[in-house]
Amino acid sequence: MKFRYHICYQILIAISITSCSISKKIALDAVTVKENIWGSKVYRGSYPKLTDIIHTRLDLSFNWDSSFVIGKATIQAKPYFYSSDQVILDANGFQINEVALVKKEGQEKQTLRYTYNGKQLFIQLDKTYQQNQEYTIFIDYVAMPYKLDAGKDIASADDRGIYFINKDGKEKDKPRQIWTQGETECNSNWFPTINGPQEKMTQDLNITVPNEYVTLSNGTLDYSSLNGNGTRTDSWRQELPHSTYLTMLAVGKFTITKDKWRGKEVSYYTEPQFASTARMIFGKTPEMIEFFSKKTGVDFPWDKYSQIVVRDFVAGAMENTSATVLFERMNMSAGEYLDENHEDIVSHELFHHWFGDLVTAESWANLPLNESFATYGEYLWDEYKYGRDIADLKGMEDQTAYMNTIKSKHADVIRFNYADREQMFDNVTYQKGGRIIHMLRKTVGDEAFFKALHLYLTRNAYKTAEIHDLRLAFEEVTGQDLNWFFNQWFLASGHPLLTIQTSYNIEKKQALINIQQMQDLAKTPLYRLPMAIDIYADGKVERKEIVLDKQNQSFAFNSITAPDLINVDAEKYILGEKVEVKSVQQYIFQYLNAPLFIDRLEALLMLKGFKKDKNAKETLIKALKDKNWHIRQVALEFVSELDQEEKNSVYKQISDLALNDETSHVRAAAVKVLGSAYKASDNSAIYNRTEKDKAPSVVKATLESRK
Ligand SMILES: [Zn+2]
Repeated sequence: MKFRYHICYQILIAISITSCSISKKIALDAVTVKENIWGSKVYRGSYPKLTDIIHTRLDLSFNWDSSFVIGKATIQAKPYFYSSDQVILDANGFQINEVALVKKEGQEKQTLRYTYNGKQLFIQLDKTYQQNQEYTIFIDYVAMPYKLDAGKDIASADDRGIYFINKDGKEKDKPRQIWTQGETECNSNWFPTINGPQEKMTQDLNITVPNEYVTLSNGTLDYSSLNGNGTRTDSWRQELPHSTYLTMLAVGKFTITKDKWRGKEVSYYTEPQFASTARMIFGKTPEMIEFFSKKTGVDFPWDKYSQIVVRDFVAGAMENTSATVLFERMNMSAGEYLDENHEDIVSHELFHHWFGDLVTAESWANLPLNESFATYGEYLWDEYKYGRDIADLKGMEDQTAYMNTIKSKHADVIRFNYADREQMFDNVTYQKGGRIIHMLRKTVGDEAFFKALHLYLTRNAYKTAEIHDLRLAFEEVTGQDLNWFFNQWFLASGHPLLTIQTSYNIEKKQALINIQQMQDLAKTPLYRLPMAIDIYADGKVERKEIVLDKQNQSFAFNSITAPDLINVDAEKYILGEKVEVKSVQQYIFQYLNAPLFIDRLEALLMLKGFKKDKNAKETLIKALKDKNWHIRQVALEFVSELDQEEKNSVYKQISDLALNDETSHVRAAAVKVLGSAYKASDNSAIYNRTEKDKAPSVVKATLESRK
């Protein structure tokens, strides 16, 4: 799932406003005020499996006026292991009309005794069933999601499970829609089931709606039948097992734009007026499916892939199996798309179809097995499609997002002591987890990494997994014991705080590196950190591999001449904070010679502290032409600090960026610089053109700069 207001984009940048949010329930101020709410002494393990639901058939219609779901559920189940004469189903706030056992022959029914406490239905079976004895129960019910009190029956109004949007049609400019949001445990607000990620089933949903509406659910549309009374029943069939929180339906007036991937339907459901931009927004999906299929070695496993944009969604997006629901910010114009294309949401939800939907975290404590991977899916796609430079920008945003929130919270990534399961949906699970997956990849190497993912996905397909299943897959592939990695990163909190000192011993002709781990070892592990060090000397660069595993550790490498630069953590992959002092010359050398985006960004940000240095200034000006748009944007921020003559010397460059840069963020930033660092009258010809830019951010910047 992607949340709506991601903390990273509040704090971080104007770069991009994506949709995720830290947690739909915990207000940000609560994070700092009530630190103790994050922890609980209760161990949150996996839910016990008593009954196994094999298949659920739902026959559903809706009373729009009262926002009721009129349902008939036919549930095929069996005891999971221990014999039992009882079934307990989650069913929140229902009116139960009938509970019966369906006899195999001729659909004959036998009424069953039950008790119902408003949250759970305790059904007494006709006899004791053994492990492999299946039975089918029938429940006639009415679900009343809007009678559930937020704070009492459900945690918040975002937990209604099913939503009736503009139910009476009185809201102008808003279509009538019904859609669902199951994660975490909200689907039992509209059909009787067993909550929790551990329960997997197949399903048939027969959805009856007025004929003018379109429906969407998981799996394939088997058939539609007209009922002769202005309604139609659509029968959706999900034949592969998936977790009950992934069951979805949506109803509304949507236009369906269709693509294909290897013969399977790939479709985009949008309101009719946004159909013309649907392919612009979602059109890379088939290429993404192909990419993730190849990268994991597991072909996209589901029958089809649909994405549907609804109104008033409670999250950013949700990866319901083969039917992802997205929030209305995906209803974009071509101009808005230039400023923020939300492609990371598309890749995130799609990657969940391997990590989350195919192999599902067995408990909410193990949620990073879903969310860290989906977050890393965004990186993988960016790396493939746009190159490492752009992917590393995304990686940096993730790291910054995690760093900016972690100060108020010490939480393990795999967390068995959360106070509320919704707290698992945070920057530790998403962004820190995503970065840990990246470190795992860098630690074992690409070939082993993707082989191990393949093993994990195939071994646990259509089942659930816990973090150790991931470790075991990596250990089997690499032949290495990886407890150290999983223990320090997934099963602990915090991150390394490194103090790095480099020097050169002229007599011994040695480059010296001393690294100290300064993190609070009472709360945080002493880390084992394999890393690369690049030594630039004598016109060459040599890479050395080290393993840092002590609190205070020194390394020495022969070097005939004093190095121009010693670049510690040369792959720039370690999640942590570091203190490192380099000279202006070394930072300039780093900007000009080290290969990665992070190398250049780090150097540039440090050079901004040397405003008086002529060479530092020259490098900052050079960075206006950097190949990475974010670095060009950072370099632009420095222009106002130049003296007038220097400003004049870069005027042409700034106006070129304002008019022609390929990225709207840079064009907008350049327009702002024109407004703040130069006379308005000089810019009017440029403004005349930038006010016609297709990107709203550039138009807005022009209006502000003209003032
Ligand atoms: Zn997600």
